[in-house]
Amino acid sequence: MEHYEVIVLGLGSMGGAAAHALAGRGVRVLGLETFQPGHDQGAAHGGSRIIRQSYFEHPAYVPLLRRAYEGWHALQEESGRDIVTLCGGIYLGDERNQVFAGSRAAAQEHGLPHEVLTADEIRQRFPTMDPEDDALGLYEENAGYVRPEETTIANAELAAAKGAVLRFSEPVTWWGAVGGGVEVVTTQGRYGADRLVITPGPWAPEVLADLGLPLSIQRMVFHWFTPDFSAVPYESWSQERHPVYVEETHGNEQIYGFPMTDGPEGGFKLGFFRRGTPTTARTIDRQVYQEENAAMQVRARQLFPHLSGPVVQAKTCLYSVTPDEHFVIGPHPAHPQVSVACGFSGHGFKFVPVVGEILADLATTGRTGLPIELFDPRRAALQGV
Ligand SMILES: Cc1cc2nc3c(=O)[nH]c(=O)nc-3n(C[C@H](O)[C@H](O)[C@H](O)COP(=O)(O)OP(=O)(O)OC[C@H]3O[C@@H](n4cnc5c(N)ncnc54)[C@H](O)[C@@H]3O)c2cc1C
Repeated sequence: MEHYEVIVLGLGSMGGAAAHALAGRGVRVLGLETFQPGHDQGAAHGGSRIIRQSYFEHPAYVPLLRRAYEGWHALQEESGRDIVTLCGGIYLGDERNQVFAGSRAAAQEHGLPHEVLTADEIRQRFPTMDPEDDALGLYEENAGYVRPEETTIANAELAAAKGAVLRFSEPVTWWGAVGGGVEVVTTQGRYGADRLVITPGPWAPEVLADLGLPLSIQRMVFHWFTPDFSAVPYESWSQERHPVYVEETHGNEQIYGFPMTDGPEGGFKLGFFRRGTPTTARTIDRQVYQEENAAMQVRARQLFPHLSGPVVQAKTCLYSVTPDEHFVIGPHPAHPQVSVACGFSGHGFKFVPVVGEILADLATTGRTGLPIELFDPRRAALQGV
């Protein structure tokens, strides 16, 4: 049986970064993955993911975001791939809304550069947008998007170049703690290691069934629409001039989206932020229905009245949502030689490089200096009600 220092189960967003970080530290690492790098079956596809720092979800994420940004720039530089674009970001809501007020609180608490814009200022600066009259926007220059497929491919390439053994199209069918180490069985063999890192994304309910985590796996959709360029020219929709955004006004459902990132034919991509249908990674319906596109377009046009053209494409993706929407990262409560990272609740991608670093810390030393208290697998919010 081949023996490694560390096995990483799942080479998607987080596992790819963990394998890369471990290989970079000279650790003898084996990575195992069901699909191929850049696949579209989990949570790491669709061309773009928002990155931002004035984090309305909780100010405690900000130090991790600062660290993640360093990792993003390093990954781009080292891989030579087109990964990060900082086009700015705006978070819109009425004064008391969490999207606006939470972003402002995080920016103030951590001294992050930002501007507060009124509805008129937003209309002037971003002619694609027509927000409610009482909407406010927190604009942050240091926001933008990263490319998820390029990220997982870059991490796989760099991990392999630094000595990691990566086996794709080789799903893990069983893992277990054996003695002080671990054993892992795949469709093709059996491997041993001192430590195991488990990063299964939306497959967590089966791979980590023993933890009984209260995860809700949800089917989400991203939609790409065609704007009316005769009303607002292409340049105003493009990443040269248009920010990423999250919007929620007057109790409307949150939407988020991107500038046009792939030229005038590429579509303007957006989605509902937290409106998923419960499913599983095995049984998800991957077809997107006409009614879903229509409902999205009606909501989108409240902010973008000129988003009147047809749907270019629409795709499903999977969220793994915890009850408090904070991540699950830490040692496995029953097996200290196993670390887990899952439950990224629809907002994990921007943390990819720093999660890789945390998992490499846990797998090599059993602890990390980075702040992960919020993500404790044993916290009260994850215990059965
Ligand atoms: C529609 C949508 C929009 C999003 N937008 C944003 C955004 O704008 N900003 C942001 O920060 N985040 C965003 N996210 C969230 C972010 O993409 C996820 O939090 C992140 O990708 C989760 O990473 P992961 O590694 O847990 O899962 P994945 O990237 O899915 O990786 C899990 C991997 O494990 C593999 N695996 C599972 N079981 C096994 C097994 N038994 N054997 C071998 N391999 C296995 C899978 O094949 C997969 O490759 C979005 C997600 C979706 C779906």
